[in-house]
Amino acid sequence: MRPFAYVKAADVDEAVRAATGPGAKFLGGGTNLVDLMREGIERPDTVVDVTGLPFDTVEELPGGGLRIGALVRNSALAADARVRTRYPMVSQALLSGASAQLRNMATVGGNLLQRTRCPYFYDHASACNKREPGAGCDALGGFNRSTAILGVSEHCIAAHPSDLCVALAALDAIVEVRGQDGTRRVPMADFHRLPGDTPDVETALAPGELVTAVELPPAPAAANSRYRKVRDRASYAFALVSVAAALEVRDGAITDVRLALGGVAPKPWRATEAERLLLGGPADEGAFRRAAEAELASATTREGNAFKARLAVATITATLRELGGTAR
Ligand code: SF4
Repeated sequence: MRPFAYVKAADVDEAVRAATGPGAKFLGGGTNLVDLMREGIERPDTVVDVTGLPFDTVEELPGGGLRIGALVRNSALAADARVRTRYPMVSQALLSGASAQLRNMATVGGNLLQRTRCPYFYDHASACNKREPGAGCDALGGFNRSTAILGVSEHCIAAHPSDLCVALAALDAIVEVRGQDGTRRVPMADFHRLPGDTPDVETALAPGELVTAVELPPAPAAANSRYRKVRDRASYAFALVSVAAALEVRDGAITDVRLALGGVAPKPWRATEAERLLLGGPADEGAFRRAAEAELASATTREGNAFKARLAVATITATLRELGGTAR
């Protein structure tokens, strides 16, 4: 085992101070970090344990939103009655991920920071720009069935693994982070980065910045929302394609729509083109399918993952159809 320093932070200032070095990592639930350390992918000099910090509550915000502490466990958030009623897609996304045991340990903050499950990323014998910048990418010509088709670059085609983050992207969540210079708020759309030529840089976090909370803005349409996940087996599998969608229909016309995709991009993918086409139009299957096809028109596919574009169109259409039948 590779030795590392361990700091149990007593407060957020100590946590941020202890994590200023380049080799520091925060420890929450540990469900991804500890695996990566075992595999030698993550090799921190210092592990800063933040589990004692007071970020484990869900609070009401003025105007109807929720503020979710970064240490709220996935299982607790999924069971929260306010989340289940006002943002069902969040609860459904959480319950579709991992296993009951893992959801009891995993935290909201850690969920935002989990790393790709690309098999070459975990294999030291393979070339991987994300693990070793400049090494190349064996997934490009290798086994790439689970890889991304939107927002990819020639340096990395790995898909983002989170379910929760797809729902957060659809809801315009705000990520609150704390660093040496104080607190700042990062829109979910800007929190994760596309790979470009630096796939090893995955988020907008500066070194030593700690995620402290996630805010869900009020979103009446989200009461009529779904998270639909398509995967190779019924549980304990990452998404091939997933869809977080909310729909509000009045007098036959779409008055609000939120749509984000998982399993198809290196970050949670907000389907802005589909939303633009849908808003104000009819809530019928033809409109849903045309919007989905427009969103996927820019997909870059390979032989192994070409099926994802068709699957995404079908999954978007089915999810919106289901919501359209129950919309107000
Ligand atoms: Fe590494 Fe990304 Fe290529 Fe996978 S797709 S091998 S994570 S560079």
